[in-house]
Amino acid sequence: MQNLLDLDPAQLTAWFAARGEKPFRATQVLRWIHRFGEADFDAMTDIAKSLREKLKAEAVVVPPAIVSDKLSDDGTRKFLFDVGNGNAVETVFIPEDDRGTLCVSTQAGCALDCSFCSTGKQGFNRNLTVAEIIGQLWQVNKALGRDPKGERIISNVVLMGMGEPLANFENAVAALKLMLDDNCYGLSRRRVTVSTSGLVPVMDRLRDECPVALAVSLHAPNDILRDELVPINQKYPLSELMAACRRYLEKAPRDFVTFEYVMLDGVNDHDYDARELLSLTRHVPCKFNLIPFNPFPGSPYRRSRPERIRRFADILMGVGIVTTTRKTRGDDIDAACGQLAGQVLDKTRRTGRRTVMLEEDKS
Ligand code: SAH
Ligand code: SF4
Repeated sequence: MQNLLDLDPAQLTAWFAARGEKPFRATQVLRWIHRFGEADFDAMTDIAKSLREKLKAEAVVVPPAIVSDKLSDDGTRKFLFDVGNGNAVETVFIPEDDRGTLCVSTQAGCALDCSFCSTGKQGFNRNLTVAEIIGQLWQVNKALGRDPKGERIISNVVLMGMGEPLANFENAVAALKLMLDDNCYGLSRRRVTVSTSGLVPVMDRLRDECPVALAVSLHAPNDILRDELVPINQKYPLSELMAACRRYLEKAPRDFVTFEYVMLDGVNDHDYDARELLSLTRHVPCKFNLIPFNPFPGSPYRRSRPERIRRFADILMGVGIVTTTRKTRGDDIDAACGQLAGQVLDKTRRTGRRTVMLEEDKS
């Protein structure tokens, strides 16, 4: 059985063609599935009965199941999805005045082991399939419904949940193509953001195959510190990363890169760190997003104090760099950046296989 959620628009058209069906049939089915959130072929009323029977015999529409759904006091909503074999991934919906952002996961766990990240600490389990990535958007769209004007509540998507999207490139791009397609979710490239820890060669592929808005997790102003915080830096150091950002901007839908910078007390938050950042990024049109560190059990860091964060932001803004400080949202339900994790069975670091267990209700 083919899960049609696993196919991007071109692949679905090819799948129909291989069965002697015209491209417009594929478009109709795409619309039913993604625009209207329909999983039942019998409900696709403008499709000939014979084709519906054929689809029922050969295909299914199966998203990952929602196993829990928690609402924070500030409106942030965290969904936990079952992705089989005791694995779970998280998706966070963040409502704001002018938009509704869905933060989507791309891997169960992550292999890159950044020292301040809870997902990294649980190790890598596996890549999510296209159906599991787009299925998060499909399911949450259904759960949230539409606003009074009939518009979707989710206006923006960020691949910033669990995992490194560029380490699951093919599947992440197929999901992005569905997000951008007018017959599916119709999101503009500016409203879809990929966040990467800096897989330089894959940043070039993203630029060539599916340029969307780019966020880069910088977190340190020099290689010595970044090697420690973001170990992939040992492979792709800052000079290469900055060059990749510049290449990306040639085709990016926005004319800047967003640098994410986690604020770790006494580690990377000094005035001289901010000044070194100015020099590092001087040739890259950018904005900064400062993320107060979100602690998790066993984490070795503390969050920088608010006045330190303000001073750090002032130094960046002093030369005209737009700098925002991320509001910590969803604290009460462990939905903040870097806190996303199912429960970990084996906490010993990087020894053998690890399994992300379905999270128990902590409330
Ligand atoms: N793997 C990708 C995307 C997922 S992480 C990446 O690293 O960019 C999303 C963002 O949350 C990244 O900027 C990441 O560095 C940040 N983050 C991870 N752990 C955090 C923590 N404990 N507190 C605050 N931000 C964190
Ligand atoms: Fe992976 Fe991103 Fe966490 Fe680093 S910060 S371990 S790349 S999810």
